[in-house]
Order: sequence, then structure tokens, then C-alpha cells
Amino acid sequence: MALMFVMIDGVGLAPAGATNPVASGFTLLARALGAPLTDALQLRAPGRLAVPVDAMLDTPGLPQSGSGHAAIYGGYNAAASNGRHQPSFPTIAMRERLARQNLLIEALRLGARVAWANAYLPGYDDAVARRRLRHTAGTWCALQAGLPLRGLAELQHGAAVSWDITQRLARTRPGAAALPEIAPEEAGVRLALLAQSHDLVAFETYLPDLAGHGRLDLTVEDALRLVDGLLVGILQSMTPEDTLVLTSDHGNAEDTTTRIHTRNPVPLVAIGPAAGAFEPVRSIDMVSPALLAALAGR
Ligand SMILES: [Zn+2]
Repeated sequence: MALMFVMIDGVGLAPAGATNPVASGFTLLARALGAPLTDALQLRAPGRLAVPVDAMLDTPGLPQSGSGHAAIYGGYNAAASNGRHQPSFPTIAMRERLARQNLLIEALRLGARVAWANAYLPGYDDAVARRRLRHTAGTWCALQAGLPLRGLAELQHGAAVSWDITQRLARTRPGAAALPEIAPEEAGVRLALLAQSHDLVAFETYLPDLAGHGRLDLTVEDALRLVDGLLVGILQSMTPEDTLVLTSDHGNAEDTTTRIHTRNPVPLVAIGPAAGAFEPVRSIDMVSPALLAALAGR
């Protein structure tokens, strides 16, 4: 049995309405759940769990990615510890904590075979060294766990997924023009294939958040369609022993009246035999402990 964990940046749950593309989007996932992704989502059935969880973390202000990702992968209240929500990337203190304790490190300690499925293009290391780019909390956790960062070769062999899912943006980057654009479902198939030789496969995408901020040549609706395709690709190709788990770090895409984050809850969805392990989760900092409990019980 394997867990496939997908962190989708910037997807909150809110009442359905004309300005909520999350409630009207995720068509295929909503069909699999039998309910749209709104704040009324309350599915607790054997093998299927889908509920709103808190991303505010008892901290005033708008939730942000730096503390949100650290909370998700670190399994602790990174916003409260920091005294405020931290945008974009983890602080030095968060990095120090994540270096000692994070989902990927602890999964390895449990004897799990772990894959960090995101791919990094040529020039990434150099850009980080020159401080033009910074590691996301997830990338930092993978590095601290000693996991290899996948690159162009893995993308070409179908053993990694680009954060933009279809490689449409990735292939415009220097040295990556040979990458084909792929269907979002194909990206999901790749994650399900990795799950055949791993116990935990983790992947993160920022498409909805960047589209919500207006920073991509892509509407929020189109970004959500790509994520939906990825998820259905996973669902259609995973084995009956596998569990898909997804969450987000904060709201954004569910409210097109604003280009900033929201205080809305975020989805926690678990589909597969380990879904019951996520029953106790009420906030994003509880996701990682639940993933580890599911791995420990495998
Ligand atoms: Zn974010």
C-alpha cells in the first residue's frame, strides 16, 4: 500500500457561487466524491474522507505559503511559532525545525520508501546558490531527508512531475525545450506508477495560487482543470491498496473577487483504504501526523 500526497497551493473551500471556481471546478474529483468542493463538504465514509480543515492556525492575518507549507510538512503550528503567517518560503527558524523533523524524514525513519516527485530544471541549483530562487518548504524537507531531487532525466522518463503538471511552462525554461507537453492525467499516472515502488509519494503544485494572484497566463478555472486532471489520473491508475491524500495551505482560487489569500478552510481529501487515518485532522498542521500514522499502520 502506498500513500500519494498532493499539496495544492491556494485552494480554499467556500459557498458555491459565481465567483467560486473551486466549487464549480474540480469536476472529476467532485464526481468521485459525489459532492462539490465547498465549505459544506462533509464526507466521512469508509475509504473516503473529504472535509474542510483550518489553515488559520490560531494566528491573525491572512494565511501564507511559508508558514502553511512548514505546518503541512513539519506537522507543527509554524504560524503561531513564528508569531505571524510567513509568506512564500520558510524562515531560518522553520528551516532549522524542518531539518530535524518533517514528514519525509519521519517516513524514512518508519522504514518507508519515500519519493519526492517534483522535478527541478537545469539551473535550479545555480539559481538557489545565487539567491534568485529559494527552496519551498517541501523541497527543503526533501533535501534534509537526503532524498534526491528529480530533474530533466526523470521528467523525460516519466518518473517525476513538474510543478506546472503539463510541462507547458517547464518546457519554456532554458535547457528544457525537448520536454513534451503532457496531459494532466498523464502526470497523475506518473505519480501512481511511482507509488508502485514507494510507500509515500509526495508532490506539490502552485498552479491555483499563482493563477489566483494573476501571475500566470492561465485562468484560475484552467489551473483548477489541470489539477483536477492530475487527480483523476491518480485515481484511475492507483491500485486498490493505494490512498490519495490532498490538501492546501490557504485559500485563494475559490474567490475570484480578490487576488489575495483568504481565511477560508482548505480541503482535506483522502480516497483509499487509509482514509480513516485522516479522521482526526482539523487543521493543516495535523495532516503530516496523520500521514505518518497511516504509514506506521501499513
Ligand atoms: Zn500558498
